[in-house]
Amino acid sequence: MKQPAAPDIALTEEMSYNTLLMQKILLYYKFTPIRDPETLKLWQKTLCDSLNLRGRILISPHGINGTVGGDIEDLKKYIKATKEFAGFKGTVFKWSEGGREDFPRMSVKTKSEIVAFDAADELRVDENGVVGGGKHIKPKEVHKLVEERGDEVVFFDGRNAYEAKIGKFKNAVVPDTRTSRDFIKELESGKYDHIKDKPVVTYCTGGIRCEILSSLMKNRGFKEVYQIDGGIVKYGETYGDDGLWEGSLHVFDDRMKVDFSDNTKVIGECTHCQGPTNNYENCAFANCNDLVLICLFCKQNPDLLYHTDECRAKVKIGAAAGA
Ligand SMILES: [Zn+2]
Ligand SMILES: [Zn+2]
Repeated sequence: MKQPAAPDIALTEEMSYNTLLMQKILLYYKFTPIRDPETLKLWQKTLCDSLNLRGRILISPHGINGTVGGDIEDLKKYIKATKEFAGFKGTVFKWSEGGREDFPRMSVKTKSEIVAFDAADELRVDENGVVGGGKHIKPKEVHKLVEERGDEVVFFDGRNAYEAKIGKFKNAVVPDTRTSRDFIKELESGKYDHIKDKPVVTYCTGGIRCEILSSLMKNRGFKEVYQIDGGIVKYGETYGDDGLWEGSLHVFDDRMKVDFSDNTKVIGECTHCQGPTNNYENCAFANCNDLVLICLFCKQNPDLLYHTDECRAKVKIGAAAGA
C-alpha cells in the first residue's frame, strides 16, 4: 500500500521556519568623514541589492547609520565589503533577531545628518569618530563611577522624553524633547547649568545619539561628560533589571518595547486612568505619528486610543464629514 504523502502545509511551514533561522538583522553606525556621500550611497545600494538585503541606510558627511536584514551568509559578505572602505574599518556590527521581511524595501539615502540634531555645522568628526565627545565608558565602569562619586553622578537621558516615561536610569534628568532637534534649545535654556560641573553620564538606546549629544554638551560648558558604550542595550545585557536601570526600553519597531527580565518594573502611567503601564500603542488617528501610553484595560475602549483629545476630535470630525 502506498504511503500517504505528508501534507504540503507542514513542508511549507518547515521551509519558512528554516529560512527564518538563516536570517538576521544587522545594526551599526560609524562616525567618520565622508567626502562624497553620493558615491558611497550608490556603492551601498548596489552592494545591498546584489546581496538581496532590505533595510534603511543613512549616509552624511559625518558617517553612516544602517539597519539591514537578510540571509546570514549575505550579511557576512555585506560586513566584509563595507569594511573595505577605509573609514568603515572599525565599525561594530550588532546582530539582532529578524530578517529581510521586516523591511518594505532597501532604502539608502544621503542627508546632512545621520541623526537629526540640527547640528550639521557644529559636529566635527575625524577618522577616530566624533571630535570632542563624551568619554566612552562600559556598563561596569558606569557602576565604578557611581561607587566612587555617589550622588554627584547625573544620568542624562539622550532620547525623546516619551521614551523615558516607560524606562530610564534611576533619578535621571530627562530633558523636555519631542525629537533630537530639541536638545540644543534645552541645553541652552539654563535649566541644566547646575550640573555643568558634575560628572554627567549620557545614555540612549544604542549609543549613536549620545555620540552627538555629548559633544554638544561639552561645547556648551558641561565639563565632565561620559557616554555609555553601546547604550541601554549593552547596559541591559550586562545588568538586566538588577542595576541602575528601571523599566522597559522603548524600541522603534513593532515590538514597541523590550524588557530585560521577567521582573521589569512598570514605571509608566496610563494616559487615561493613571494606572501603571508600560504599553505604548500607535495613536489611532492615521495622520498622527505619536504614541499613546495606555493600559490594557483602557485600550479596550477604541475611543481612548488617541494620544490627545485633538487627535480624537479630528477623527470624529472626519467621520461625520464622510457620513
Ligand atoms: Zn488606563
Ligand atoms: Zn495623535
